[in-house]
This record gives sequence, C-alpha cells and structure tokens, in this order.
Amino acid sequence: MNCLTCRTEAGHVHPAEGVCRSCGVAVCGDHLRIVRREQTVPMGLGTSRVRTVAAVHCTGCSP
Ligand SMILES: [Zn+2]
Ligand SMILES: [Zn+2]
Repeated sequence: MNCLTCRTEAGHVHPAEGVCRSCGVAVCGDHLRIVRREQTVPMGLGTSRVRTVAAVHCTGCSP
C-alpha cells in the first residue's frame, strides 16, 4: 500500500506507514499525524482510569 497524498499531490509513489482513522486513506510518515487523546476506561465497581491513546490521521483530517 502506498501513500495517497504523495501520489495525488506530488505524483510520486511512497510506501505508506499508517492508515487514517477518520477517512481510511493510507499515508506515509511525512503525511501522517499522531493524535493523542485521553480516554476514560471503566474498571468496574464505579471506578475508572484515564489512559492515553494514539490515533493516526492524515493531513487532511488533522491539518
Ligand atoms: Zn506521503
Ligand atoms: Zn484522513
């Protein structure tokens, strides 16, 4: 799988390193953005803990 942004914007082929979680396009390291956010995970018995999760987004979904 190759980076869609490289192919459409620059016209060259570059291997993809990730897939955008929002729109599903494949993106290379230059065109992906790692978005970290905190997520509350229920632990049962009314308790919960917060963990940081990372998601890959393309430059179009995360300018
Ligand atoms: Zn690219
Ligand atoms: Zn996207």
